[in-house]
Amino acid sequence: MVDIGKSNGPSLINHDSTTCMENTLGVYIHIPFCIQRCSYCDFATYAKDQIAANDAYVEAVCTEIRCRQNIFSEKKLSTIYFGGGTPSLLTPEQIKKIIDQFKTLGFEFLPDIEITLEVNPATLSSQKCEGFRQAGVNRISIGCQSFNDDYLKACNREHNVQDTLHTIDLVQSHFTNYSLDLLFSLPQQGLEQLEPDLLKMQEISPPHISAYCLTLPEKHPMNQGRCSDEEQAEMFDRTLQVFGQMGMKRYEISNFSKPGFESRHNNLYWTDQNYWGVGLSAHSYKRDPHWGYRFWNPSSYQAYMQKIQDLAHDGSLETSFSKNERESLMKHESLSDFCHTHLRLHDGLNLSSVRHKYGEPTVSKVADRLVVLEKKGWLNVDRDRWRLSDNGLLVSNQVFSGLLFSAQDIDN
Ligand code: SF4
Repeated sequence: MVDIGKSNGPSLINHDSTTCMENTLGVYIHIPFCIQRCSYCDFATYAKDQIAANDAYVEAVCTEIRCRQNIFSEKKLSTIYFGGGTPSLLTPEQIKKIIDQFKTLGFEFLPDIEITLEVNPATLSSQKCEGFRQAGVNRISIGCQSFNDDYLKACNREHNVQDTLHTIDLVQSHFTNYSLDLLFSLPQQGLEQLEPDLLKMQEISPPHISAYCLTLPEKHPMNQGRCSDEEQAEMFDRTLQVFGQMGMKRYEISNFSKPGFESRHNNLYWTDQNYWGVGLSAHSYKRDPHWGYRFWNPSSYQAYMQKIQDLAHDGSLETSFSKNERESLMKHESLSDFCHTHLRLHDGLNLSSVRHKYGEPTVSKVADRLVVLEKKGWLNVDRDRWRLSDNGLLVSNQVFSGLLFSAQDIDN
């Protein structure tokens, strides 16, 4: 076990506020319970009946917050995101207990703090919805995935379309800020079969949509019967067209919103901001000092609970992460991540921000690569700002490969 907050490498606790944008922090809280496992899922989650100790888990999360309250120097919270898993399996009282833990410790909630809760259809009642709202939740993300019962069954989703529509109704009556997830390129699904889902989205007209093309390991059984890359590209185009007609802007490769409804929490991930991950398998990122740190919690339930027990008994473990629970980024790794995450955004990659973080010799190496990608028609440039072109959006993985830097490429 090495303490990365002390002697081995730069401190995790950053006291230089000038290096952290706005001096605020976003928190991700992982809730690892689901009613059942979906066929395509590789998140760290458990079917609810495998681990019924929800209260014990909530207590562990609160203990972790208490014990690690100083792991980041920032004390102003801009976002809290309950993700999973299925956070809506917790009660409003449990969610409130976690939110209140930050308040008790003196964390300041910014007036416009965004507090998101991921919800799965068929896990919500009107009373629960109101309870979450009163606990402080002000944004809901609903895992609809599809409005076709056959596809939901193929994914082993627990809910049907009726459940989804009922949940959307409930959410709409308590929240103005909500998001719907849409999954496409499912087995046996082509452009024609996607159309009803897009029309349903148009009818509902939510303020935010996350639309993901299903991605699976090569040998996964759900890969059988999937459409060609060309048809996937047509699905992307049609999605863009329909959502555009709804007044939505694609502000990130997979995310669409009406003005003012972009996910502020997810934006932290794409703009090199600090975030603190709490709970089983949750990942944290600290952008300063040097090229950034990642550190994360164990992904097995038993190991996580044990870790928190140890933390509660020995406060000096606050900033301790074993060798396989932390990573200090090298300059070339940090630079690659920086380019990839920014290019995911409609705002794109601004070379002056690369210059600011990595210095002049590095920026010219990045610029050389960008020019090559522009010549292929995959990037557009407007002064210092580079964005994926329509063609680049379809081959974004190839664009990102072109911006993968090695230690030899960059003077670390
Ligand atoms: S509900 Fe979400 S997190 Fe849970 S198994 Fe399904 S895809 Fe995974």
